[in-house]
Amino acid sequence: MKVLVPIKRVVDYNVKVRPNSDGSDADLTNLKMSINPFCEIAVEEAVRLKEKGVATEIVAVSIGQEQSQEQLRTALALGADRAILVSTDSVVEPLAVAKCLRELCVREEPDLVLLGKQAIDGDNNQTGQMLGALTGYAQATFASELTVQNDEATVIREVDGGLQTIRLNLPAIVTADLRLNEPRYASLPNIMKAKRKPLDIVTSEELGVDITARTNLIGVKLPPERQAGIIVEDTKQLLDKLKNEAKVI
Ligand code: AMP
Repeated sequence: MKVLVPIKRVVDYNVKVRPNSDGSDADLTNLKMSINPFCEIAVEEAVRLKEKGVATEIVAVSIGQEQSQEQLRTALALGADRAILVSTDSVVEPLAVAKCLRELCVREEPDLVLLGKQAIDGDNNQTGQMLGALTGYAQATFASELTVQNDEATVIREVDGGLQTIRLNLPAIVTADLRLNEPRYASLPNIMKAKRKPLDIVTSEELGVDITARTNLIGVKLPPERQAGIIVEDTKQLLDKLKNEAKVI
């Protein structure tokens, strides 16, 4: 069984991102970049499927700048067998990513596409769903448990107020939620081995995909700073402030 794992290069989740000087975008100068955490969970799940003898090949894919090769090498060190970079300097929106992935699905014929539920930079939560629509594959989003047996995947999904279990025919698309697993760290020998694993580079033109952006980023700003609290003298003053200043009662 072949598993395709799309991974995105994003600002590391420990870094606090700030707007650039004119507020037109986030300032990414010299920031630490990493694999999107939900994509790391997807890679881990694919590796676990391989360790169980269910998956036979894991292909990590990223659509983005040349530097995304670093994150693909990390995925290879974590256990992916080979990697594909769809190289572009343009900003790629979820629809463009999904279209590139659809073309790779035609070429690679994966049984399972394991994505993150969401990229933490744009918080879009769209790509898996769009890929489902474009390929016609069955899909399960927000997976907290995944088992694959006899051409079927069983997924437990985290939904508001509980858990939902669904069964999908393969090929299928599954997006990973936070509690699906806890990703391992890449060992030094595996980091060395990853340097020799195959990493192919293609362009969106070679895939025949138009990645022109459909939306325009107008600006970004930080949320308003929280004001310092005050200590009230008594309940009378508290009630007065709640009623006349905060206007919540
Ligand atoms: P999003 O819809 O942007 O929140 O991203 C959801 C998931 O789609 C991510 O966790 C990745 O698995 C995949 N994805 C999004 N953008 C890319 C990209 N540029 N390259 C590869 N995979 C991506």
